[in-house]
Amino acid sequence: MIPKTELRYNYKYAKILYRGHKYFEAVWQQIIDRGGAFEEIYESNIKKILELIPRFTGFGWNEYADVFIPIYLADSPSSISHPLTLSVNENPGFMLVDLTHELIHCNMYCGFKTKELQEECFNLVTRVVIQCLDLNLKEEVRELEKINESESKIIPSKTGWDFNKKTIKEFIKG
Ligand SMILES: [Zn+2]
Repeated sequence: MIPKTELRYNYKYAKILYRGHKYFEAVWQQIIDRGGAFEEIYESNIKKILELIPRFTGFGWNEYADVFIPIYLADSPSSISHPLTLSVNENPGFMLVDLTHELIHCNMYCGFKTKELQEECFNLVTRVVIQCLDLNLKEEVRELEKINESESKIIPSKTGWDFNKKTIKEFIKG
């Protein structure tokens, strides 16, 4: 069973997360607008994304994730996996890549020796899931990887993990 998801707009939560200096009413309107622009690409791909993730992680949705995952829209410095909070972007394609990455965090929650290795695996699964969709989002994937790399200061693909040979679950087990 794949989890149910739903886009959520919560004014108070979004206001708490906002770290910028603009008047929040204008920010809130932009969250609603960008969320609205995101809806189409979200609706047509979410089911496929949720089906693809376990194929590469090896983790069933019943293992770590909640059966219902609300997706809160916000304008925050980065997106968050728990509770799933998606930071809006002018590019809906980037938001889809970002959402995929956070959903992978929801699908598997532990088991890595280091945080760096964990992020690297999340990036690799994000890339392969997005590749399976019929969308041209290569640039967006690279953009998100760059953000995650600068945060955790990792060198991409150092682990040599090959998702075609091993799911993440098998990789963790050695
Ligand atoms: Zn991550």
